[in-house]
Amino acid sequence: MKSVTTKNIVYIMGHARSGSTILNILLGNIDGVFSAGEINNYVISGWVTNEYCSCGKRASDCEFWSGVQSSIESHLEQEPSEIALVTRKMENWRTIFSVSKQKRNVQTLRRNAYVLYAHAFFNSILERADSNWLVDASKVPMRLYNLLGGSEFEYYVIHMVRDPRAVCYSLNRSIEKNLEGGVQKDLSSRSYATTIKELYISAILSALVKWKLPASRYLCVKHEDVVVRTADVLDKIDPFLGVRCDSLKDHVRGGGVLFQSHNVAGNRLRMQKDIKITNDQSWLKEMSAARYILTSLAVAPLLIYFRYPFTRKAIGYEG
Ligand SMILES: [Zn+2]
Repeated sequence: MKSVTTKNIVYIMGHARSGSTILNILLGNIDGVFSAGEINNYVISGWVTNEYCSCGKRASDCEFWSGVQSSIESHLEQEPSEIALVTRKMENWRTIFSVSKQKRNVQTLRRNAYVLYAHAFFNSILERADSNWLVDASKVPMRLYNLLGGSEFEYYVIHMVRDPRAVCYSLNRSIEKNLEGGVQKDLSSRSYATTIKELYISAILSALVKWKLPASRYLCVKHEDVVVRTADVLDKIDPFLGVRCDSLKDHVRGGGVLFQSHNVAGNRLRMQKDIKITNDQSWLKEMSAARYILTSLAVAPLLIYFRYPFTRKAIGYEG
């Protein structure tokens, strides 16, 4: 590892339901690394709606996050609603296209505030975790687009991708509200058309972020590799971050379970204890042939770009 004075942010970038939660948990099992989950959602999930942390307590009762919140409140005078508003606006990809001078000036002020808030979170979490490696699984490419450059932090970006057809299938399924299970509200079904459009936007924005980064700070990881060849993925992450994770590799090779740190924002997997990485390929079995072919055609450029095979047989499905 590098000097203890260097503050490092490992940013997990990608689309919803691409497996960022399991990667966030895996990275948090490396010695000296703290995985905080979706830091950009903490203001709402933790501060405003007081959701359950993965430790089983409400955010306000969790020693870790209540300590982080006190630290942030001592550094920022803004109300949570103001922080949430700026976060939402600056993470909207349409801000890239602000053309008028007046709008650009507003964006500059807003970006400065956004960076200030993000840094307050990073510093407070790192201090509380007594670490100099923090995983932010906020996923949104625009977050990184706004944070890169002139920063006191070193950014390492892991771009998490998953077969776009599996993402469409997953988001098409609704999930019922289950507070203690980590689902704050009913999650309605998203149409395939909407997800496909969002997947293209996410891929373009991710390419923009990649372009802004030195090659040594970008690593693309497939969800399918994380769940099937976990130790091999750690073999890539090890030199990428410059951290040693030999004991974790041995642990996962031996079928060991993963522990979970304090996470307030993220999907429901974060609420499980002793996490075992599993390979859920149910979408391959359950998606009808017609839908599979039509979706494959609609996302063909993404399949080629991220190197996914076209047919189910090529993926390894024997049904
Ligand atoms: Zn907690």
